[in-house]
Amino acid sequence: MPNTEIRVRIAPSPTGSLHLGTVRTALYNYLFARKNKGKFILRIEDTDQERNKDEYTKEILDGFNWLNIKFDEGPYYQSERMDLYRKLAQKLTNEGKAYHCFCTQEELDELRKIQRAAKVPERYDNRHRNLTEEQKRKFISENKKPVIRFKLPDHLDIKWDDEIRGHICVNTNDLGGDPVIMRADGVPLYNFAVVVDDGDMKISHVIRGDDHLHNTAKQIPIFEALGYSVPTFAHAPLIFTHDREKLSKRKHGDIANIDKYQKEGYLPEALANYLVHMSWTQPDNPEAEIFKLDKVIEKFDLGRISKSSAVYDLPKLHWFNNHYIKEKSVEEIYNLAKPFLVGAFHETPLQSMYPKEQLLQMIDSVRAGVNKLDEISGLIRFFFDDKFNLNEGENQKALSSENAKKILDKILKSTDSFNFKDSHECKKKIDDIGKELGLKGKDLYWPVRIALSGSNKGPDLGLIISLLGKDKIKVRIEKALLSVISPY
Ligand code: GLU
Repeated sequence: MPNTEIRVRIAPSPTGSLHLGTVRTALYNYLFARKNKGKFILRIEDTDQERNKDEYTKEILDGFNWLNIKFDEGPYYQSERMDLYRKLAQKLTNEGKAYHCFCTQEELDELRKIQRAAKVPERYDNRHRNLTEEQKRKFISENKKPVIRFKLPDHLDIKWDDEIRGHICVNTNDLGGDPVIMRADGVPLYNFAVVVDDGDMKISHVIRGDDHLHNTAKQIPIFEALGYSVPTFAHAPLIFTHDREKLSKRKHGDIANIDKYQKEGYLPEALANYLVHMSWTQPDNPEAEIFKLDKVIEKFDLGRISKSSAVYDLPKLHWFNNHYIKEKSVEEIYNLAKPFLVGAFHETPLQSMYPKEQLLQMIDSVRAGVNKLDEISGLIRFFFDDKFNLNEGENQKALSSENAKKILDKILKSTDSFNFKDSHECKKKIDDIGKELGLKGKDLYWPVRIALSGSNKGPDLGLIISLLGKDKIKVRIEKALLSVISPY
């Protein structure tokens, strides 16, 4: 009987940090579960004792939490389910559907060598499939520890209708021989544990990366041998880089892991939108790029996931992130950016220099131009200290003109008449000084901007003046004038 309730799962292995591709697959599972009023399950596949790390499990859980991907069940841990795998492996062995294989590593290496030399595909030749009782006794007496292999049917086309890839057919003879399901130390291998769990947890749809296509062909006969109903499969394309390489931590470093995006101030909803959009568009609005996940649940359909590989594109992700940063209220951005600011200005407690209202104004004045939250601190840093360099390049050039000196002198003498509470009035004051001196545009603004902020670009000049206030303005202009007179 097929599973009638929709139940899907994501099953990461804690052998590395949370990968972007896993998150994308999780998002497809999540959308599918919500659309079908089904259940979404988290299973940690932690049977590989040598490569598992608790810190990876923690990162995986934190990452999903940060992305606001919620599960209905789990996390289940495979390491807590060993008895079940052992029991079922024993059952298959008793029923003659699996068998003990005593081949040593040297024997298997030798076999591979011969196959390579003969230029035939490498595969286990199932040589221990039909050992006699006597042969088995002999191996045991030699103290050889057997693995358990599953008997794959010979020359059988394994076929399924994949929800994304369409009709798939893989012959069992192309699967590398009978797969090991249990190691000699009683630890199950992926292809077995995953079937036991998907079967036992009544998973109706297995939605995962298309690097598992061959595994699926191995797993279907195992489902059948264990008497579980075979789930429906959907294999989503993997993420590749522009140079057509599979996105991986080993080759591409941090960009493959969710961690980086969390640390650098990407918004989770922007990342989720970007990842889903890589291979899926809305049926009624395929042009739309920006969408909130909960708004597209009703429209979600596995059949609309593209078969071709997704391409990682950082500028595009930045475009999404910038959009979401602009869409939030300044208060929200302030709260989200605070950890980055505190990190950047650890020597300057944020609110000891400016009241919150002014901090909000600062952030609001730069946020439209940032791709991620960790860029904000660099753009507003000059409000907190004047450690910028006036004696270099554009800065020095702009400040060393006769006009610059006149403007700065004039401002210094008239600071008492500025109304620092009103940024428009501050800006007007500068314009008035410009009129008096017959200067405008960059001839007027650049020296002022540079003297006050160390850059000829940035937030509105009136806002800079009003937020810095009289004392800081005076100190900075004096310093700038001094640098003009004696630049070294
Ligand atoms: N633990 C497997 C992996 O991380 C799960 C694959 C699957 O979804 O079956 O690749």
